[in-house]
Amino acid sequence: MNRLAKAAALVVAVAALPYLAFLALYGLLRPEGSPAHKDETVEPTVSIVLPTFNEVDIVETKLDDLIALDYPMEKVELVVVDSSDDETPDLIREYFADREHPELNLIREEERRGLAPALNDAYAAAENEMVVKTDCDSLVAEDALKVAAANLADPDVAAVTGTNAEVLGGSEVEAGYRGVQGHVQTLESHLDSTLIFHGPFSAFENDAIVLVDPNSLADDTELALRIRQNGSRVVFDPEIRYSEASHSDFRKRRLQKDRRGMGLIRLLVQHRDMLGEYGNYGRLVLPFNWWFMVVSPWLLALAVGLATGAAVVATGPFGLAVPAGLGAFVWLGGRDWLGPLQAVYSVFDAQVSLLRASVALLRGDGDGTWEVDQELREVFE
Ligand code: GDP
Ligand code: MN
Repeated sequence: MNRLAKAAALVVAVAALPYLAFLALYGLLRPEGSPAHKDETVEPTVSIVLPTFNEVDIVETKLDDLIALDYPMEKVELVVVDSSDDETPDLIREYFADREHPELNLIREEERRGLAPALNDAYAAAENEMVVKTDCDSLVAEDALKVAAANLADPDVAAVTGTNAEVLGGSEVEAGYRGVQGHVQTLESHLDSTLIFHGPFSAFENDAIVLVDPNSLADDTELALRIRQNGSRVVFDPEIRYSEASHSDFRKRRLQKDRRGMGLIRLLVQHRDMLGEYGNYGRLVLPFNWWFMVVSPWLLALAVGLATGAAVVATGPFGLAVPAGLGAFVWLGGRDWLGPLQAVYSVFDAQVSLLRASVALLRGDGDGTWEVDQELREVFE
């Protein structure tokens, strides 16, 4: 083996170590479900917060889904914060015109300011005990409010998120990634608290809510992190199910995944002082996420570079088989043609976004608004 090949192998081994440690911990603890002491008998009042920006094509489907939830609607208010310049707010008003429950509070913004400031306003307006944030381009399982309330009944737990149980549009890349992520978030929750909170369904105790950075690109996760910082646990429950659409195609995935990656990395960096503090959250959960989001994407890129160099040194132009092989892996993965390797590809795909996100952040990109992915909304129409 030449020196470059040894270096590549060393980089891969170093990059893999924390994952092996995490796997060992998983094997040791065998975590299952939510760690919260659930109480299924509680029935708090609920504020559902729905942010909307130009959602005419899908907003009625979303409202149909919300009012079909298995929960007494006289205990529910819907807080919509809307920055549309299309007919979205008119459709919402019409929808509720002769409906008594849930009560509607429609907050109209004069212009699009970005999601985080919009949500800060909606949370301030939410009056009920449990606040559930949901995205317009998602569907929520019927029992989700009940399961969320049962989790929040645990006095230590102040926020709970759920799982993308059915990836709409059938992307196996996304399904594979969510499968891996579900195991990680379950373990994190059993160790203490989880980091990532998901836009389609996140529930918070109203009393625990604080303002998030108006520039945030990871508003749900930021709110959860701040709640953990204030002393409560924030957990993942795989029994809370929602569905959201996703692409498999490599290029199409970048639009949403890169931005989400930027939001998460920036959040970790902003709160780097939490490392090592806050029990297992700062000792294990945050370092693990630092490794996955900030460190290992660079190590992976370095390893690919070194392996290519090593192969070129050893075999001349045939060494380019390394990047060509990687290209083929991406091409097949983006078409969901990798069979059992599809989950591995999903993690690789996430690492690509995180690397691109780091580069974009270093360049100073990333304000609070983004191009909405219209194609992802077609499955809801
Ligand atoms: P993604 O799922 O992370 O790609 O984000 P989306 O583009 O689907 O947006 C998530 C939710 O926020 C959707 O319900 C959007 O309609 C809404 N949204 C996006 N940007 C804004 C905004 O600037 N203001 C408001 N009020 N809502 C927004
Ligand atoms: Mn979305």
